[in-house]
Amino acid sequence: MSHVMNTYARLPVTFSHGKGCRITDTEGKEYLDALSGIAVSTLGHAHPRLVDAIAAQAGRMLHTSNLYCIREQEQLADKLCELSGMQEVFFGNSGAEANEAAIKLARFYGHKKGVELPTIVVMEKAFHGRTMATLSATGNRKTQAGFEPLVSGFVRVPYGDLNAIRAVAEHNKNIVAVMLEIIQGEGGIHLADPVYYRGVRELCDAHDWMMICDEVQCGMGRTGKWFGYQQAGVLPDVATLAKGLASGVAIGACMASGKAAGLFGPGNHGSTFGGNPLASTAALTTIAVMEEEGLLDNAARIGSLIRQLFGEALAGVAGVVDIRGHGLMIGIELDRPCGELVGKALSDGLLINVTSEKIIRLLPPLIFSDDDARELVARTAPLIKDFLAA
Ligand SMILES: *Cc1c(COP(=O)(O)O)cnc(C)c1O
Repeated sequence: MSHVMNTYARLPVTFSHGKGCRITDTEGKEYLDALSGIAVSTLGHAHPRLVDAIAAQAGRMLHTSNLYCIREQEQLADKLCELSGMQEVFFGNSGAEANEAAIKLARFYGHKKGVELPTIVVMEKAFHGRTMATLSATGNRKTQAGFEPLVSGFVRVPYGDLNAIRAVAEHNKNIVAVMLEIIQGEGGIHLADPVYYRGVRELCDAHDWMMICDEVQCGMGRTGKWFGYQQAGVLPDVATLAKGLASGVAIGACMASGKAAGLFGPGNHGSTFGGNPLASTAALTTIAVMEEEGLLDNAARIGSLIRQLFGEALAGVAGVVDIRGHGLMIGIELDRPCGELVGKALSDGLLINVTSEKIIRLLPPLIFSDDDARELVARTAPLIKDFLAA
């Protein structure tokens, strides 16, 4: 009996090391990684630049505390603001923490405006994390069940429906923000029309609300632009990051601009580990390598190739509902629950994922090559066909 708390239905495999987009288990079997540890391993595994930077930083200093100035953290904040169009950044250690900071910012903003019970509009099928506030913001009853009372101050609307937000605004005077993912990840790779994102921005402007984009999964180059909202042509007031930001070292970031900038002062929020020299160096190096190796363009190009190849390989196959996504955030929706495909792929040496029961989710490292893409489709498409034919 394992002493690890049973919070994951783990697959029966343990990995020992990786290189690029390949990862090897303790028995010596090799796998093609099309999941990146859920959108985390931006640079794949054991990227030499990242390995060297982390080792050098560990040799200088791991941690000092936010009681002091941290040069690497300041450099990372500068870089993120340059890339994002944001003005300032708070650093935590995870996506949930980044979103906690965003939720606190929105509430703080509301109280400053005299709103007594600040309320945030959130989406059906959204995923924002597992802490009490982010779980309450998450749009999945199953993950919430058993943890009531949930945190109050959220109202839920269907994703992609501007009128639903307008309707809430009419009878609820406590709204202070709208929080959404530009591409819903856990919810099943759902995208809305660009008109929708611009509409949300306009509603937020008209009502003096904050627009909060949870970019934890779709940010950091995955869609082919640094941030998903740049695909949509909007600039939010708050954007949150984590997962791929440091290519595997734990970090979270809550970026603020406009009405969301300059709100917090000393004592309003904090984190012991957040933005420490090690995590900040890993993120800075990840970004530098992404720029040098042209990984945004690569994500866009390889993502299109993968969707195109799957489109060809699965053309006319009954049971395939949709192939969608942006860059290297790809969903293949089937007409039936297909969780068992994950185990079948694992046996075949492929790391893929299924989310929301019916959606095969692919989140390859941003260094995925043409050959990796062709191999992925050539090996995965038959699995899908066999599964659907059974
Ligand atoms: C994974 C994820 C989170 C939670 O991140 P953790 O690091 O697990 O806390 C939040 N939002 C989105 C969109 C995510 O995909």
